[in-house]
Amino acid sequence: MTLGNLRDLYQQVILEHYKKPRHKGKTNPVHRYQKGHNPSCGDTIELTLQLNGDGSLIEDVKFDGVGCAIAIASADLMADALQGKSVDEALEMVQRFQNMMKGGAEFPKEQRKLNVMQGVSQFPVRIKCANLTWHTLKAALESSQVAKPQGFVSNEKEDT
Ligand code: ZN
Repeated sequence: MTLGNLRDLYQQVILEHYKKPRHKGKTNPVHRYQKGHNPSCGDTIELTLQLNGDGSLIEDVKFDGVGCAIAIASADLMADALQGKSVDEALEMVQRFQNMMKGGAEFPKEQRKLNVMQGVSQFPVRIKCANLTWHTLKAALESSQVAKPQGFVSNEKEDT
């Protein structure tokens, strides 16, 4: 695939996270499990979350899966940004990311690493790839317990 005219720096960061993801694997223990699939590209992400005692804070996020550079880099960047965030903050971040993919919002200074994905909003076919991990996160956070492994969300019907 080609990232077209994405700015070189951003392209480099994306490729780095794709080749050497820092948050690949499975959390221990697993408090939330959610699988997400993006049929238009073939990306599949399996997210696992470790929460604190009352389930209000995200202690760890890991992902597994196969996908294009955009999908994997997006998952890794997301996992990085979510460490220690509250569930409410995480849901706001989902919203913000989806707005960013529509060419709107960007992330504030503390989360500016996520803005490397901003260029993807110029490539409509890639937006679903970038959104997949966030879409999957939202489903994971909104389920009150560990989902059955065979259950998965698809972002096929999502507007781009
Ligand atoms: Zn993809």
